[in-house]
Amino acid sequence: MALIVQKYGGSSVATPELMKKVAKRAIAAKNEGNKVVVVLSAMKGETDKLLKLARSVTPEPNPRELDTLVSTGEQVSVALFAMTAQSLGETVKSFLGFQAGISTDDNHGKARILSADPARIATELAKGRLAVVAGFQGIDKHGDITTLGRGGSDTTAVALAVALGADVCEIHTDVDGIFTTDPNVCRDARKMEKISYEEMLELSSLGAKVMEIRSVELGMVHNLKIHVRNAHNPSPGTIICQEDESMEKTPVRGVTHSTDEARITLVNVRDRPGVAARILSVVSKAEIVVDMIIQNKSAEGDGNRTDFSFTVPSNDYDKAMELLGNVLNELEAEKILGDDNIAKISLVGAGMRNHAGVAAKMFRTLAAEGININMISTSEIKISCVIEKKYAELAVRVLHEAFRLDLPPGENGGTEDI
Ligand code: ADP
Ligand code: ASP
Ligand code: MG
Repeated sequence: MALIVQKYGGSSVATPELMKKVAKRAIAAKNEGNKVVVVLSAMKGETDKLLKLARSVTPEPNPRELDTLVSTGEQVSVALFAMTAQSLGETVKSFLGFQAGISTDDNHGKARILSADPARIATELAKGRLAVVAGFQGIDKHGDITTLGRGGSDTTAVALAVALGADVCEIHTDVDGIFTTDPNVCRDARKMEKISYEEMLELSSLGAKVMEIRSVELGMVHNLKIHVRNAHNPSPGTIICQEDESMEKTPVRGVTHSTDEARITLVNVRDRPGVAARILSVVSKAEIVVDMIIQNKSAEGDGNRTDFSFTVPSNDYDKAMELLGNVLNELEAEKILGDDNIAKISLVGAGMRNHAGVAAKMFRTLAAEGININMISTSEIKISCVIEKKYAELAVRVLHEAFRLDLPPGENGGTEDI
């Protein structure tokens, strides 16, 4: 007997018919002798609809009230699931985030889970019952409803799995697992049998929305087995687990892209100690996360000038431009330039640690398509390039082909071809 947390995403519960299929799948897992907790997202499109509704009332909704509103998407899902499962003869109760003991900080819209105390869920399991929990939501120390950020139901599922000591957290979605790249962008994308937490963290942070990044972090810290699989297909999907030797055979395991970032450049900033810290403190005070950073001496001027560029999430772009625009004089900067017409393309692979030449091949491949690279950043297991947005999907496809990610590891030439 295993304890399984099954999370179903919005597309998997998009209609009453699909909800019934999902309920049957959870009941079947329970009837096989397992203890099963179900975590649900809002039905597909509902969260967007609620966000739009709020913005039809006011351009800047109050964050507390916005969370009260958008969390209802998941409330609808769990109540419908419980009714559906009951109609199939099952005894089941639905729980909202707070009823399942999900406590968060009070950062509305991006709240972090501080603790999970699913005592009521454990009681249901002990009675041999199914429990269904609303993902994406929690409660803060003031007793207010919070939400965890887009894709946050993944994090609810992993947090509950950790707290309940589950054997596995299954993330049921609309594709068969984690692929070498988004299968909806590249037809040759190949499903991976397993992927390391670190590789998945990089893929998530670089744009692969199939797993929300905090859920991967939490799984990694607690060494929880995560199984990403198709909600409507019984075949095994992809296991996210500790790295093993097989993962290092090929330098590149996945390609991903993100079009949700923008670049900001402060031109001809006075080059003196503390200037980079000052620029970044202005944005970080507004809780804006900076990603790539490049500083280089300006070719113009008296030699004491530098250009400072960095990327921010598109959502925070206007705000960051405004905040920095206000301190241009203090920074002695000539001007500020912004560009939200960019995409970030990344290669990820644990094997990059031991293999040289990946960057050169990436740049050659992009150049052959006439794609210009604007910014580059690297870590131990990834290389990212900023390019013009219109080339994003083309870049994914040509890189996938150049690194032969369509072939299984061991058959794709490994590093020889680099
Ligand atoms: P859910 O509603 O189940 O949470 P999401 O839409 O959040 O599903 O995530 C699933 C989607 O992630 C897929 O439909 C796919 O387009 C996208 N995706 C991006 N990169 C990958 C990848 N490397 N492997 C699998 N899916 C990916
Ligand atoms: N419903 C939320 C969203 O659309 C949370 C989730 O689906 O995980 O982002
Ligand atoms: Mg998701």
